Formats: sequence, C-alpha cells, structure tokens
Amino acid sequence: MLKRFFSFYKPYKRLFFLDFTCAVILAVLELAFPIAVGHVVNELLPDENWGLIITACAVLLVIYVVNTFLSYVVNYWGHMLGINIETDMRRLLFDHVQKLSFRYFDNTKTGHLLSRLTNDLFEIGEVAHHGPEDMFIAAMTLIGAFGIMLFIQPELAIMTFIIVPIIIWLVLYFNRRMTKASNRLFTDMADFNARVEDTVGGIRVVQAFANEKHEGKLFKSNNLRFREAKLIAYKLIGMNASISYMLMRLVSLFVLIAGAYYVLQKGMPYGDFIMFVLLTNIFFKPIEKINAVIESYPKGIAGFKRYVELMDTEPDVADSPNAIAVDRLQGDIRYNNVTFGYEGEAKVLQGIDLSIHAGETVAFVGPSGAGKTTLCSLLPRFYEVEGGSITIDGHDIRDLKLESLRKSIGIVQQDVFLFSGTIRENIAYGKLGADDWDIMEAARRARLEEFIASLPDGLSTVIGERGVKLSGGQKQRLAIARMFLKNPPILILDEATSALDTETEAAIQQSLAELSQGRTTLVIAHRLATIKNADRIVVVTEQGITEQGRHDELVAAGGIYSRLHTAQFSRS
Ligand code: ADP
Ligand code: MG
Repeated sequence: MLKRFFSFYKPYKRLFFLDFTCAVILAVLELAFPIAVGHVVNELLPDENWGLIITACAVLLVIYVVNTFLSYVVNYWGHMLGINIETDMRRLLFDHVQKLSFRYFDNTKTGHLLSRLTNDLFEIGEVAHHGPEDMFIAAMTLIGAFGIMLFIQPELAIMTFIIVPIIIWLVLYFNRRMTKASNRLFTDMADFNARVEDTVGGIRVVQAFANEKHEGKLFKSNNLRFREAKLIAYKLIGMNASISYMLMRLVSLFVLIAGAYYVLQKGMPYGDFIMFVLLTNIFFKPIEKINAVIESYPKGIAGFKRYVELMDTEPDVADSPNAIAVDRLQGDIRYNNVTFGYEGEAKVLQGIDLSIHAGETVAFVGPSGAGKTTLCSLLPRFYEVEGGSITIDGHDIRDLKLESLRKSIGIVQQDVFLFSGTIRENIAYGKLGADDWDIMEAARRARLEEFIASLPDGLSTVIGERGVKLSGGQKQRLAIARMFLKNPPILILDEATSALDTETEAAIQQSLAELSQGRTTLVIAHRLATIKNADRIVVVTEQGITEQGRHDELVAAGGIYSRLHTAQFSRS
C-alpha cells in the first residue's frame, strides 16, 4: 500500500529530494535559537560581552532570513509535488473508469464514482502535499533536539524523552480509530452524493409526482448520517488534541522542576536549563503538527484504499492481447450458439443461432423482456457472450480491437442521450473534428436543416442538459444526424421511434430508411408497420428465436408474428 503510494512520486524524484533537503535544513536551523540562547546565558552574559551578543543575534537574523525563504520553498514545492501527484492520480482514475464495462456501471451509483474522483482525491492530495514531508521534518527535529539535550544533560534528556513513545503510541492509536471513522465518513459522503445526483437528475420526475417532501426526508436521513460520522471523527480529533496537550504540559512541568533541581543540586548552568526548556518546546512542535494533520492522514489513507480498489477493478470487457484493428467491416454477422445472462444462472439468451448478410436489414420483434436489446448489445461487446461466439466478417468479435469494433457499429435508441452543449457538438460526436459543412450535410439528411435554420443561433444553439430543450422527434433526428456523420457499416435501431407519435414516427422512418441504405441493419421494432419491408423478420421470445422470414411469409404461417400483426392491425 505504502509502496503503491510512493510509486506516484517517481516522476517527481528531483522535486521530492530538493524539497526534502530544504525541509531538513529548515529543521536543523530551527535548533539554532536554543543553542544561541544557551551560549549567551552561559558565556556571554557573565562576561558582559556585548559585541559577541550582537554578533550572535546577527547570525540568528541571517538564519531566520534563510529559514523564511526555505519555509516558503518547502511549502510551495511540497504542495506542487502533492498537486502533481493528485492530478496524475485523478487522470489515471478517469481513464480507468472510462474503460469499465456496462456491467460495472449497471451496479454502480454515479454519485459514488463522483465522490471517488473529487472528494477522495482531494483528501489523498492533502496527504500527498503534507504527508512524507511533515513526518520527516518531525522526525528530524525530534532527533536533533534529543541529540542536543543528551549532550547537555543525558539523565534529564532520557527522562524527558520517555514521554515520546507514549505520545507516538497515542498518535497511532487515534490514527487507527480515525481511519475507521474516515472510512465511514467517505461512505456516507458518497451515499450523500449519490442521493443528490439521483434527486437532481430526476428532479422533473420528483416534481411531477410532487414528491419533494419524500425526497427531502431521504436527503435528511443521509444528511444526518453524514453529521453523525463527522461528529465521531471530530470527537476523536478533540480527544487526541486534549490528551497530547495534557501530556506535553506535564513534560514542561517536569522539565521545570527537574531542571531546577539539576541547577540547584548538581550545578547545571542556567544557560543549559533555558536551552532545555526551549528544546522541549521545539520537539513538541512536530508532535503538535502531527496532531494537527491527524485529521487528514487517516482520511487520505482511507481515500487511497478506495482509489486502489477502484483502480484494481478490471474491466469485464477489454481488448485481448493480440486483438486486431480493422479498417472497415463489411457487416457479415453470425451468432453461433450464443448464450448469455446478466446475473447468476438465469439465462436471457440460450443457443442463439443467426446469420445476417452484409447489407441486409433484419427486424427483431417479440414480447418486451424477451431479450431483443440484449441480443443487439452483445454485438458491440457491451456485454460479453457467455457461451458460443459472434463473428463479423469471419472475425470473432473478441479478436477485434474494441475501438474498431465500436466505430463500425452505430446505435440509435429510444431514449437518445445528448450531452449538454450545442447542436454542433452533439452532431459532431459522431465524428470528432467534423467541419460545419459535414455537420450541416448530416443535419440535412436527418431532415434537421430547417429546424436549425429557424434557430437564431443555428448550430451553436445550446440544447440544455441531456437535450431538454428539444422535442422527442428533434432529439431523434439529432441522433440520426450524428449517425450519418459516423457512417458505420452496421446499424442498430433499438425502438428508435417507439416513443414518438405516429406522424413524427412516419417522418423519421424516411430518414432511418435512408440511413440504413448500404448498411447491415438490425431493427428492433414495436410497431410492426415500420418493419414490413425488412429483408427478414426474426421473432424473439423467451424460448429464443422462434420464427423468421419475410412479412407475408410470417403472416401466412399463422404463428406468433401473425397474431401480433392481427392484434396491432385491429387496434389501429
Ligand atoms: P427486450 O429488449 O426484448 O424488451 P431486454 O433485452 O431489454 O428485452 O431484456 C431481457 C431481460 O434481461 C429482461 O428480463 C430484463 O429484465 C433483463 N435485463 C436487461 N438489461 C439488464 C441489465 N442491464 N441487467 C440485468 N438484467 C437486465
Ligand atoms: Mg428492448
């Protein structure tokens, strides 16, 4: 764990050592004052040597000026180091999270991930800024002060120093308890973020159901739990601070009494006595500092544990070591005895055999929940097949680079996800860096041109979070424009028009028909009218693929499809 943490320092070795060296010099120079005072009291005062006293002060002044500069450097470089490390960690985590599979996101709350990326990393950063350095300065000052004290009066030094192990034990003890408390704090904070994310994300539903009070209650309980966790943590911090305060004052008292005794009974010089008192104060300083950061260390450690845990989560779906990149697939798809289930033993798909020729349009129909969407999700490897295999143009999809596989497949779904931003950005998502001419051409083919022309800001119109400022039909057209630009050889249309009214649907069908020209197209349709002209219709039920053929063939066969057809026909 510690090794892993320090591995992040590697790129900044030089900065680290420079900073470290300055910190050590700073710590050693801090010892100058007590030594100087001792010397002045012992030697210079009795001689009334004003000249040397002033010289000693001048030397101290120089040391302080140097230390002022050093402390700025140590502070700034230390933070620079920490910030660099934090930035690296955050970037690595973001890259990693982006690679995690659909399965992972199915089971993870967005708010929790946000917490990992923001809050946890902030705390880790705090430790990276201060951690090793504070510890090292503390150790250096302790050792330095102890060394000088030993030199002056060994017995008294050892007696005074007995307190140190007690304080270290105390620090470790509270550290352990704080780590536990911090872990709880993190969990509660993550839950809290997840709650806010859920409520704000679904605010339209919340308001539509007038359930603000209910959400408020849920929020309140999260908020209170968070409060509880914080209180526990601050109780520990407070206890730790008070107990070590008490111990340190006891040491001061002890040094006062014992020192007085040594002066009176054993003839210890006054200067040594004063030096002792000052040195005790110096070695308290790092302890006080450690006490001050005792809050951030355990938090950082707890955060780093979570960080490592997430970084070590392997994506379920990833490139195989010798995956090949292909330029453009033809779109000859084969499902060979495919088996798949989401959780446990329950299988959604079993023994699916299906072949789709390049350029063919195949429609999937069947009851909701039968596995149509699942069947199509396996093709871009959103989920991995459990048994059997899928090939495209003869390549097992697991042997293709994910990037080239996914660049070859375009998906238009019922609920289009648009990014908050402009129309231009959202269309260009199909082909990053596309110029306005290409974007407008795609918009024209998606019959979005007039709409864009009617907007005062045209392509630069901001469409709001997830495209809230657009109608269902407009969103769908935007998704289609994006797909024209992406121009994939394989197209999946998953109930792309099911949410629209029949009139809009009919209009959009034309664009979709144009889009599927020359591509292998898998259409999942709810309304059978939209797929009458498909090259082939495949009926998917819980039993798997039960019928396939052309529309008239299936109607004539009198199976499930003909029943569905009759039902829809008589309804409309
Ligand atoms: P269809 O598209 O035919 O309506 P789906 O393929 O969406 O059906 O769903 C098939 C089955 O798989 C359903 O029982 C559904 O509950 C389940 N399912 C779908 N998506 C997931 C998922 N991400 N995690 C777990 N189960 C899922
Ligand atoms: Mg579906």
